[in-house]
Amino acid sequence: MSNEQGADDDRTVECEAHGTRTATIVCCHLLQATDVVLGFVEDMDPDDPLAWCNECEQRHTPGQPWTEAFKRFVDLKVVCDACYARLKELHSERAPGAN
Ligand SMILES: [Zn+2]
Ligand SMILES: [Zn+2]
Repeated sequence: MSNEQGADDDRTVECEAHGTRTATIVCCHLLQATDVVLGFVEDMDPDDPLAWCNECEQRHTPGQPWTEAFKRFVDLKVVCDACYARLKELHSERAPGAN
């Protein structure tokens, strides 16, 4: 375990659209412009909001350290909490039939 705690306590991000907001983290795929619903899998850590798409979730082995290949694939990006909420809305899968 090598959580870099205390190294950077500043959990804010300067968002072009939303200004200074709480920093959150998502995989690079969720930021790509697409009409496809990619899924939105959240890591339930209130201190460190993180979410990635279904593909990242499938490649991830819980409890295992991240490999370099996996890190490159996920390519985590910092976004503001408002962008995070928007991405969640865009990529959360709806119940079948509820369009
Ligand atoms: Zn992803
Ligand atoms: Zn934003």
